[in-house]
Amino acid sequence: MKRLWFSLPALLLFFCGGCFLFRGETASPELAGMGFRALSGSPGVFVHPAGVLKLTPGKRTCLINGMQFFLPHAVQLDERGRYCVTALSIAKVIQPLFSGQPVTCPVRTVIIDPGHGGDDLGAKGLKFKEKELNLALAKAVAEALKKRGFNVRMTRMNDKFLTLDQRGKLAHKGNGDLFLSIHHNAAANKNSNGVETYIVTPGGAASSNDKEEQIHKKSVSANCYDTVNIRLAALIQQNMVRKTAAADRGVRFARFRVLALSQLPGALIEAGFVSHPAEELQCGSAQRQRKIAEAIADAVTRLNSNR
Ligand SMILES: [Zn+2]
Repeated sequence: MKRLWFSLPALLLFFCGGCFLFRGETASPELAGMGFRALSGSPGVFVHPAGVLKLTPGKRTCLINGMQFFLPHAVQLDERGRYCVTALSIAKVIQPLFSGQPVTCPVRTVIIDPGHGGDDLGAKGLKFKEKELNLALAKAVAEALKKRGFNVRMTRMNDKFLTLDQRGKLAHKGNGDLFLSIHHNAAANKNSNGVETYIVTPGGAASSNDKEEQIHKKSVSANCYDTVNIRLAALIQQNMVRKTAAADRGVRFARFRVLALSQLPGALIEAGFVSHPAEELQCGSAQRQRKIAEAIADAVTRLNSNR
């Protein structure tokens, strides 16, 4: 994991600081204490030996090494104009991704959950139904993981309907170490496109698609995996964007029942929009499915090897 966030330009910027960098003058004391230094002439850009963080006042989204992440709370400027993030944003996103501390997540068996099935079609594109794309991609992910030496169990291998509770129970019973739910997206806006990786929302935070002022729920048992989840999601999202050149719609938080019920570390992957005519065709191609499958399998391998 250390290597993921290591970036030569960031390291050079950090150590060549001197007259080019303000020494944390515009970072909150918490961020400065973690080693973030503001980059002169680039408001909201903070350099760290492990990478670059870009914050925008009033926004819950931030960029970490150019990839989009949702924070539990919006960034604020204090009375001195310093960029402040909440303790929860540090604990659940910034610290796990910049600390370089290894995360212990030995993975032998991965539970793969192709979303929807049977009468539950999921989103509908012009050519494909989401349930079909989810199953095809899930099978490709299973192959890629098996090639890398992992055991795989699927919640469904055919066009069968399962409730969310059944999926969660299967994940629990399957003696898995990691849970991956595979979905495809749709939106009323036909131009929406790109990939997203969801993990269960930390207790006290609003989910990424909710307004921040909406009720911040208590933790669920799956929140004990928050640190593993954010690292897994960062690896999956980065790999998917790099391998497919799809638009990066970010690592996001949601209290999806299927994630909360699985009682395993895991993520829900939205692998593209069936409502976007061009992306729908890409999602239906074996080539794109193979690229996404390899992106996910490489992420699991990296997480397992504790780097
Ligand atoms: Zn879905």
